[in-house]
Amino acid sequence: MGLDEKIVTVWPIAGFDRDLHYRVSKNMATSINVGSVARVPLGRRFVLGLVTEVDSEPDIPLSKLKLVSQSLYDGPVMSRSLIRLAKWMKSYYGAKRDSVLECMIPGPVRQGMSPKHETLLEATRKLDTDELAFLEKRAPKQAALYQFVSQQFQPQKKSDLLSRLGISAAAATSLIKKGILKETRRSIQRVAYDDDLGGVEFAAEKPLQLNAEQSAVVASIGKSMEAGKYASHLLKGVTGSGKTEVYLSAMEKALENGQGVLFLVPEVALTPQTVGRLRSRLARIGSEQAVVWHSHLSDGERFDAWMALASEKARVVVGARSAVFAPIPNLGLIIVDEEHEPAYKQDETPRYHGRDVAVYRAHLENAVCILGSATPSLESYKNAQSGKYILNTLRNRVDDRQLPVIHVVDMRTEIVRSRKPTQLSSLLVEKLQQRFDDGEQSILFINRRGFSSSMICQECGYVAECDHCSVSMTYHRTDETLKCHLCGDEQAAPLRCPQCRTPKIRWKGSGTQRVEFAVQKALPKARISRIDADTMSRKHLFRERLSDFRTGKIDVLVGTQMIGKGLDFPNVTLVGLVDADLTLHLPDFRANERAFQLLIQVSGRSGRGELAGEVIVQTFTPHADPIQFARHSDVDTFLELESESRERFAYPPYRHLIRQLLRGPNSDKVSFFAEQFARKAEQALPGAIELRGPTPCAVEKMKDNYRFQIWYFTKNVTRVMGELRSIYDEIKWPDDVISVFDVDPMSLM
Ligand code: ADP
Ligand code: ZN
Repeated sequence: MGLDEKIVTVWPIAGFDRDLHYRVSKNMATSINVGSVARVPLGRRFVLGLVTEVDSEPDIPLSKLKLVSQSLYDGPVMSRSLIRLAKWMKSYYGAKRDSVLECMIPGPVRQGMSPKHETLLEATRKLDTDELAFLEKRAPKQAALYQFVSQQFQPQKKSDLLSRLGISAAAATSLIKKGILKETRRSIQRVAYDDDLGGVEFAAEKPLQLNAEQSAVVASIGKSMEAGKYASHLLKGVTGSGKTEVYLSAMEKALENGQGVLFLVPEVALTPQTVGRLRSRLARIGSEQAVVWHSHLSDGERFDAWMALASEKARVVVGARSAVFAPIPNLGLIIVDEEHEPAYKQDETPRYHGRDVAVYRAHLENAVCILGSATPSLESYKNAQSGKYILNTLRNRVDDRQLPVIHVVDMRTEIVRSRKPTQLSSLLVEKLQQRFDDGEQSILFINRRGFSSSMICQECGYVAECDHCSVSMTYHRTDETLKCHLCGDEQAAPLRCPQCRTPKIRWKGSGTQRVEFAVQKALPKARISRIDADTMSRKHLFRERLSDFRTGKIDVLVGTQMIGKGLDFPNVTLVGLVDADLTLHLPDFRANERAFQLLIQVSGRSGRGELAGEVIVQTFTPHADPIQFARHSDVDTFLELESESRERFAYPPYRHLIRQLLRGPNSDKVSFFAEQFARKAEQALPGAIELRGPTPCAVEKMKDNYRFQIWYFTKNVTRVMGELRSIYDEIKWPDDVISVFDVDPMSLM
């Protein structure tokens, strides 16, 4: 081995979890470093791997080490701290290392996509008149090409040039051979800086003059940033209090310090305004410094965005969950907007929580993390109480705008009054009419798409259930179908009961379509539009509708909570929550928390402009805590009471929950393996866990699979996960029983 040869540790990116060791030849020494992607020989084949250490001391004789065959890129695509983050993800979430790498490094980067190039043509010398005349006689096309190129001030794009002049590539090749023209290659970026602005135009925006509350918060965050050490801030601010403005100030500070910024939002496509405001603000420092990151990017865009960051061409990422892994060198600030959003949890392996990974990453990078929300999660609230996070509060809406007045309508009395089930209470109809007459806008939320949640026969009690899942089918009136919202199965809606043939069918429970229908009936002249997953299968439609709403072409917008996030429409003065009970009574210890968050969030869409707002909440349980505390916008008391109750039952955040989910087509077999697993876990971890189950899941059957769960409560996730993982590895699993772990699960169905 030569003296200046390096030895590296390589993690294979796909297939297995083993550390491999190689030598690096001299000529590759500069391009192979920690974070490089390398092609290495393994047995008789080659695999791609991530270089995680250099100059490591392998426990095999050096003479046996093979050489790295190739470096995929000139520089590293991952930083040391991202590699440490990968190790933590593996142990905390109990995932396999290769699945962690697959999740962190985007496909095109992992597999070695090449940057896109374009070829340019320029003249290398000027032909004299004789030469030109000769060329014109012998090869008129070449002469034409030469003349065109030589008259340009800059190199021209070859493909454009040839097609514009109608000249074949052969002509160019001949001129190149003769040394008259020369080809150069230039890489081009496919980064889509942003196309999710919801049809809104944003001019370059100057920072606003911060109010006193905002200034105090910015100062507190600034202090942490100057200290140059890890700190997390919980920014608790009522809706419309100007949290985004605080994020932007902190971001500008980081950029001025030469640091990079990671800005996470729950779903980029749904927060067009945040992205838009950010971009217009960035226009001042050069918006090419920022890239957008979300699941709709093409492979090329994804690749270029990643490389732009890794090579420090860009320093800001705005993105959804997976942006938390963006390779930002010198990361100074991480912002997690709407930190309480369940959308931050990934529901496939590795089932990580974007917010929690963000906090851990800030830790590794000595960066400052801001978690913002009007309704913080109990997890973050507890961390703020215990001093792990610094608590910053914005109590008031900007410009002294009032929080909306919230009316709670008891639907039990409403039914007695109207003598039949009804979607819209008389108060709601009255207020909708008022808004329509005054030229103001309304939004109605209902957390379910379709027309009605179930079909019930009035004679025999038959309920239409999915053949593959243990849930009832939702009726969709627009195409007269019954659909399963779990597996997507659908069939034509029957006119008679399939069991007893009577035509007396009742459609129970409402969805967006039924509400849209009811509003149309109540306000025949109003222009109504619906936004839910059914109408929004195409992205541009979502933008168009939002844009129509903004420009006043729509009076009433009906939608699922997908329209509840982050939208800021100044002319909306009425928000109706048609069925507040939908989230309230789920079998989930977070049901109250979710319902409360939803109530505050949707209420926050009302009265954001000059005009005061009102909210109408329809419910059959008007005295439920989340409704009462939301009604008075009393976030603090709600959090306190909810914390107490969680503590009493030792639920998260007072202990961690690990949920093991087992599924398969044969119920007895799945149940058998679940029982066996639970017994082994109890033996292996005496005293370290409280185990519950196995029990069937709330949704017992999904897509023809029977589902069982085991719950493990613990204070030490890493230790327990390690044990569970080794029990898992010892068991010989049959092909038709699948077991997965979900650490800190957000969904318990
Ligand atoms: P939040 O994110 O807390 O709901 P936003 O950041 O969206 O609140 O702010 C609400 C509105 O107030 C936005 O239209 C924003 O432009 C405006 N705003 C924020 N801060 C200020 C300020 N200091 N002065 C004037 N307007 C402000
Ligand atoms: Zn189904």
